[in-house]
Amino acid sequence: MKLKISGLTKTYKNGVMALDNVDLEIGAGMFGLLGPNGAGKSSLMRTISTLQSPDSGEIHFGDINVLNNPMALRKVLGYLPQEFGVYPNMSAERLLNYFAQLKGISSKEDRKKIIKEVLEVTNLWDVRNKSVSGYSGGMKQRFGIAQLLLNNPKLIIVDEPTAGLDPAERHRFLNVLREIGANHTVIFSTHIVDDVRELCREIGILNGGKILYRGTPTDAEAQLDGKIWMRIIERSELDDFARDFNIISSNFNQDNTLNIRVYSETQPNETFVMAKPQLEDVYFVTLKNDRL
Ligand code: ADP
Repeated sequence: MKLKISGLTKTYKNGVMALDNVDLEIGAGMFGLLGPNGAGKSSLMRTISTLQSPDSGEIHFGDINVLNNPMALRKVLGYLPQEFGVYPNMSAERLLNYFAQLKGISSKEDRKKIIKEVLEVTNLWDVRNKSVSGYSGGMKQRFGIAQLLLNNPKLIIVDEPTAGLDPAERHRFLNVLREIGANHTVIFSTHIVDDVRELCREIGILNGGKILYRGTPTDAEAQLDGKIWMRIIERSELDDFARDFNIISSNFNQDNTLNIRVYSETQPNETFVMAKPQLEDVYFVTLKNDRL
């Protein structure tokens, strides 16, 4: 089923325009919504999830007119918000059983079956008897996924799930998403470019409430072919280079020199070498120029 968003606009009471005429079509698979803090990602996620209303625009998921019929969407939605409250001191298995009852799965056998399935897919089966309140951040996030999978949602929305996770937990979490993305429509927001590079078939880059790029990571990188240049400079030279060239990123080396990457249609000068475009270049160029 396709999610179709058109002309979505939202200005908060304080005057901040969080969504500015957003048009977006999202099909089956993993969709990565990439943008810096304050870009409007959560506003978009909350609006699709029917937790807040836009000022104008439309959202359709398959046959469902989401803004006219929010209850119909909620029935097929699994939403993991950015902050997911405090969990009671109860084992994962018992808590899932409780949530499954709330979600109306009345047969004990059905509950047992689905709970086993969601614990396995989120790699929590071995710790199912441990209290969720004692879980690590990454385990809690995976538990959040287990919980939303209980009623077999058709549309899954996860808002910045990797923020604050250590690298190992982040990796484990992304693997769980990868598995789920194979047979669900998943929208996943993040400000971490590495999160989306391998995981997402399609990405959108959002900033200032606007979709600035929409397509595959590979196509985006290809658009920058021959336009990314790099060289090493001394730290003290950075200001001069920043004035003369369009620097899109700089990274320290161990000896206190910097690798700089520059965006330019032609070789900036003979000291620069051409670099293979990476998704991070796509992200920074798009944010800087308001388009790719
Ligand atoms: P992101 O999820 O990408 O960090 P948000 O959607 O949370 O972005 O925020 C987009 C902009 O809207 C930010 O400038 C933020 O401060 C503002 N904003 C978000 N929620 C509210 C709100 N409830 N009231 C007023 N301003 C808000």
